[in-house]
Amino acid sequence: MSRASIRWLAGPVLRAVAEGPFAMREAVHIGPQALLGEVVRIDGDEIVVQVYEDTTGLRPGTLVEGSGLPLAIPLGPGLLGNIFDGLLRPLSGTGSAFVQPGMRRAGAASFAFSPRVKAGDVLPPGAIIGDARGRTGRSDEGPPRSLRSLPPEGVHSALRAAGRADEGPPRSLRSLPPEGVHSALRAAGRADEGPPRSLRSLPPEGVHSALRAAGRAQAVLAPPDAEGVVIAVAAAGEYRETASVCTLRAADGTTRVLSMRHDWPVRVPRPVARRLPPLAPLITGQRIIDCLFPVAQGGKAAVPGGFGTGKTVLLEALAKGCNADVIVYLGCGERGNEMAGVLEEFPQLVDAKSNRPLMERTVIIANTSNMPVAAREASIYSAITVAEYFRDQGLSVALMADSTSRWAEALREVSGRFGELPGEGGYPAYLSSRIADFYERAAIVEPLCGGVGSVTVIGAISPPSGDFSEPVTSHTKRYVKAFWALDVKRAQARFYPAIHPLQSYAEDAQMFAPWWTEQGLSQWLPLRRRFLTLLDNEAHLERMARIIGKDALPARQQLTLLCADLVNEAFLRQNAFSEIDRACSPSRQGAMMRVIGRFIDLAETAVAAGVRPDRLGQMACLRPLQRMGEEIGDGELPRFTEIEAAMEREFAQLTLESETSDAAHG
Ligand code: ADP
Ligand code: MG
Repeated sequence: MSRASIRWLAGPVLRAVAEGPFAMREAVHIGPQALLGEVVRIDGDEIVVQVYEDTTGLRPGTLVEGSGLPLAIPLGPGLLGNIFDGLLRPLSGTGSAFVQPGMRRAGAASFAFSPRVKAGDVLPPGAIIGDARGRTGRSDEGPPRSLRSLPPEGVHSALRAAGRADEGPPRSLRSLPPEGVHSALRAAGRADEGPPRSLRSLPPEGVHSALRAAGRAQAVLAPPDAEGVVIAVAAAGEYRETASVCTLRAADGTTRVLSMRHDWPVRVPRPVARRLPPLAPLITGQRIIDCLFPVAQGGKAAVPGGFGTGKTVLLEALAKGCNADVIVYLGCGERGNEMAGVLEEFPQLVDAKSNRPLMERTVIIANTSNMPVAAREASIYSAITVAEYFRDQGLSVALMADSTSRWAEALREVSGRFGELPGEGGYPAYLSSRIADFYERAAIVEPLCGGVGSVTVIGAISPPSGDFSEPVTSHTKRYVKAFWALDVKRAQARFYPAIHPLQSYAEDAQMFAPWWTEQGLSQWLPLRRRFLTLLDNEAHLERMARIIGKDALPARQQLTLLCADLVNEAFLRQNAFSEIDRACSPSRQGAMMRVIGRFIDLAETAVAAGVRPDRLGQMACLRPLQRMGEEIGDGELPRFTEIEAAMEREFAQLTLESETSDAAHG
């Protein structure tokens, strides 16, 4: 392998004089600790390397060794249920303060393998060779191959690295017992976050013994670039992730030994048989998203919002409540204590649908703001590669990235260090194409092994001072299909989720009408249009009402304000911490949409018949309508029919009163 010697060093970037050939994007190891880096530019005999680890201690003259390979990560059954850093090195079981005590486990990652192929079978690339079943929750055999030379402290020293003083747990906490650390982390975290954010919590032992017991069956994939005739396959039994389980002979006579996991270069999208058009929405359990601004399975959505507008809470709610098979949750460059919330909470949660631990279908990648800046770039690519790996098993995957702005800031910092000409906002000129490449990897596809798999990407954006015209937001806007703009005013009024109905959009929405019809709501599209029109009109009328006073508006316009308020309060508002309302099933969403639509119809008829809008505002049925989200659970749909019946009786009474009073006056 080629070698180079450091000539110049600034933060995460170094220049080195090469003594042999290097390739662009080649992974390199630097110094005695074999820090991981990547060649990002070649100028004659000089290479520019971005380093994914803390570069303290490196100096001119230090050796840089090429690996001859691009930066790759290991993909296998050991991913699910585990927590990794941006370079996909396990954080569970390392004794780090960031990790749930119960998740520390030692020993080999073994899985029960059962073959699906036999000797003589001809395998196309990326075929399923068997199934792996076993515990999720890592038990490690050490860091990935490429990093084996690293002392174990190297892995979590990144976590502990100083960073800005206000981030992550204080260093003094390191000497505390784990419980002390966690309660301190909790205290340091968001004190104002209201009720505990747990689904149904099991005692930790419950979760962990469940995890140990079975785990989830996963397909074992041959790498997308391996094909040939099976000449040997392991019998069913327990094997390590890295043990050979299948041998292939390629057409050219070479043999290739496969294990349950394989490496894949993070910057190369994994190949698929073909891309498919969007079929169905990703059901998120959030009414404003599913009903007004849906994203397709395999689609891409962005959640821009200023500080404290609810990006993290929303992404976590989606991770817990959406109907994807596998969740990849990436904490990219956010503060350590926010990530601590996820790390602490997720291992305790039970998935309501399957009644199994949520972690069993989750991979968490944690790259907090105190970790080396360049690793954010690696974490983005690692996360999308992990998502594609599960997609290739025929699963639907949702990737949540919080936040893509921190990645863009890392690009800016690294590019600045090696003296590139800055573009808009100081970001490098290639910012837009990088963002495009990332979102482009979201898709619904036919994987190489057949079936259907999808990766839905949901990226949070943290625009400085909430200004959506800044480069990251404006470029991302060009590539996503759904845009959920979080509004500072709504958040300040504690109206959550603070998605602004007039600044948000969903390009694929029309396409999902047939899906909703199948769910029994054929009126979905007209109801959606009606709600959006009401909200749009409300914005105009409110401006007018501020000038001339609400009472001076004509009756029809007062009615619009009343109905829009009902849509906001009874439908769009949804508390992520409410036991009943944190996720809303499609059938409940449909029932709520229908009953509000019915109120609007009856109210319009009543006003046309001469009932005054302020009289409607006093109706007894409004209160149960406004509270139905909090009070009627997914399993209690008949109660919506009761609300509707009571509403109809009250309207009939109202019309009667107004007719008699008309008669008295006339
Ligand atoms: P951001 O990540 O945008 O900075 P957070 O997601 O941390 O903001 O949200 C800040 C606070 O707002 C939370 O701690 C919580 O109190 C409140 N909040 C946000 N979203 C919701 C929600 N959907 N339901 C209830 N409260 C919420
Ligand atoms: Mg946040």
